[in-house]
Amino acid sequence: MLPEPLAGAGRLPRRATRQVMVGRIAIGGGAPVVVQSMTNTETANVDATVAQVSELARAGSEIVRITVNTREAAAAVPLIRNRLLAMNLDVPLVGDFHFNGHKLLTEVPEAAAALAKLRINPGNVGKGAKRDEQFSQLIEIACRHGKPVRIGVNWGSLDAEVLARLMDQNQRRPSPLGATEIMREAMVTSALESASRAVELGLPAEAIVLSCKVSGVQDLIAVYRSLAARCDYALHLGLTEAGLGSKGIVASTAAMAVLLQEGIGDTIRVSLTPEPGGERTREVIVAQEILQSMGLRAFVPQVAACPGCGRTSSTQFQSLAGEIQDYVRSRMPVWRATRTAVETMTLAVMGCVVNGPGESRHADIGISLPGTGEEPVAPIYVDGERVTTLRGDDIAAEFKAIVEDYVARKYSPRPD
Ligand code: SF4
Repeated sequence: MLPEPLAGAGRLPRRATRQVMVGRIAIGGGAPVVVQSMTNTETANVDATVAQVSELARAGSEIVRITVNTREAAAAVPLIRNRLLAMNLDVPLVGDFHFNGHKLLTEVPEAAAALAKLRINPGNVGKGAKRDEQFSQLIEIACRHGKPVRIGVNWGSLDAEVLARLMDQNQRRPSPLGATEIMREAMVTSALESASRAVELGLPAEAIVLSCKVSGVQDLIAVYRSLAARCDYALHLGLTEAGLGSKGIVASTAAMAVLLQEGIGDTIRVSLTPEPGGERTREVIVAQEILQSMGLRAFVPQVAACPGCGRTSSTQFQSLAGEIQDYVRSRMPVWRATRTAVETMTLAVMGCVVNGPGESRHADIGISLPGTGEEPVAPIYVDGERVTTLRGDDIAAEFKAIVEDYVARKYSPRPD
């Protein structure tokens, strides 16, 4: 007897959450998982911030967060928004507030009007008696301007009063929980209690997004599972301080993939520390790749490439794979504007005849380059059929022309 088919194996349906509109972008309520990012420019530097927001948006960031930490930064927000609109970039901006947000938004209401969402950290909103008062002021400002709020708990700035209360309660248990469990519970409690308080103050539940960011993979999974089981608010997912290079990418992917697979997470950010001289847009590309690899969204044609081995002494296929990947990413804005569904196209660039023809046949377009000792020809497969053979020095240009021809033939023009 044949086993059960594997199609879609293991992926759970998306968890039902309330839908929150952030400008023109829907988060939760069945909408596709949204990619967001954050600038690292001084927000008061309007030129630098506009440049970086536009880079992030053009790379595919659907929402961009900016720090609003000073009066100058608050005053810059409407200027940044207007400059972006003049560039035809209607990307929703989220203001990140800590400590003095209530003051800045009271003094510069234009900033609240220009932002699409406010991010508030309940652990950094104020101390002692001022905490509740300042949190209330921020929520009232959000209500007045009709803006949604992300209540973003971070374990590096956990609400000290919530933590102290839970530790106190824990001491009285017959079997006290460990410090890790208390920390996780304090994060979830802080997010849920702050959300309840915001609703009491008049903020609709459909204007609330929650996040509880930690830097440990298992902590993130545990905290979000708990959060998802205890509320139906839209959830922003991300590992905080994920780190540099491959460590940050792997840790973010490991944590978020488990949760996304369980239907948890309505919007994601990959918080990478940029390598010196590295591009900020890397975090957007990694977020897109996580979602696309999991089959949750499609952003850009995927290029499958073999890792290479002793059967190929040439680096030609590595260079070609890199060149084709860059090419499809650079062409995607034009294809997206003129054709439908090009992002679902698949390409394969393979290094020899062992797996090359097979993998190439599985892709929409595949090329199998010659391995060591093989005839110096590169068969091309389109929709599973061998259609031609490339040879000589112009293989890359000829392969790109085949890709362009395929896009023009296979994907319908967008209606005007
Ligand atoms: S396709 Fe060929 S070159 Fe590439 S990994 Fe497989 S055997 Fe090695």
